[in-house]
Amino acid sequence: MAARKLGAAPSERTREGPPVTETPAETEKASFRSDVTVELVKHSAADSDVLWAARVSTAGEQSLEEITKDPERSKGLINFLMRDRHGSPFEHNSMTFFISAPIFVFREFMRHRVGWSYNEESGRYRRLEPVFYVPGEARKLVQQGRPGKYEFVEGTRAQHELTGRVMEDAYRHAYDAYQEMLAAGVAREVARSVLPVGLFSSMYATCNARSLMHFLGLRTQHEQAAVPSFPQREIEMVGEKMEEHWARLMPLTHAAFNANGRVAP
Ligand SMILES: Cc1cc2nc3c(=O)[nH]c(=O)nc-3n(C[C@H](O)[C@H](O)[C@H](O)COP(=O)(O)OP(=O)(O)OC[C@H]3O[C@@H](n4cnc5c(N)ncnc54)[C@H](O)[C@@H]3O)c2cc1C
Repeated sequence: MAARKLGAAPSERTREGPPVTETPAETEKASFRSDVTVELVKHSAADSDVLWAARVSTAGEQSLEEITKDPERSKGLINFLMRDRHGSPFEHNSMTFFISAPIFVFREFMRHRVGWSYNEESGRYRRLEPVFYVPGEARKLVQQGRPGKYEFVEGTRAQHELTGRVMEDAYRHAYDAYQEMLAAGVAREVARSVLPVGLFSSMYATCNARSLMHFLGLRTQHEQAAVPSFPQREIEMVGEKMEEHWARLMPLTHAAFNANGRVAP
């Protein structure tokens, strides 16, 4: 796997020695993003994994050879498993994503405990980069209605301009404070307290199709969903990108998920 921006583990010496601080050579300028990125870095995931796991109960070790014999039967079996919520055959696969998104997205993301593994960049072992989230023009800004029954609407040009300006000012101010403390010798793990949840972070997230479906059922909106959900748009953006990757790897499973109301089996 190629090296990415994920925080490197500290050496034993660093971990056991005196607090290590960092003095930046020059102050870094903040940059602003409205997107999230999701890269599929590693995978072992195919529809045949589901079929193989399901058929072992009836065909034993012969099942691998059976998989390609009758595509219609394979499609029907995946649909049956999804419809009747036989979930475990959907667990014999693995996808690892490298995700860059604001910290507030990761806060929501890591509530998904089952069938997920996470490693996030460290704010203790490296200086955090000044990359911050500002909603793009397509992001609906205004919430109307009451909790449990609300919708988001566009927002005026003035509201968009205000949001961008106020966020950028606040981010710059916070990052200046962070850098000031680092320059004075304060430890990164202490100085980071002033940084906001709009700061970008990055993580590896590994899941299987079953845990991804559970995530997508809760964190995306979709016309085929039998149970509506109301995710925050930014985690939905991450979910949509993960779903694109997954749909390419496991098209039959993805189609069966949609056809059965996007409820994880
Ligand atoms: C629209 C939306 C709004 C939300 N708002 C809030 C909020 O305001 N505050 C907040 O704190 N959270 C909020 N959440 C997070 C939510 O409560 C869940 O923590 C999150 O969606 C993960 O779901 P999960 O527990 O089903 O997933 P996982 O943790 O991946 O669990 C998967 C499944 O395993 C089973 N399971 C896991 N752990 C246990 C357990 N301890 N006991 C029994 N069964 C278990 C359950 O069947 C569960 O559905 C929100 C989520 C959504 C989608």
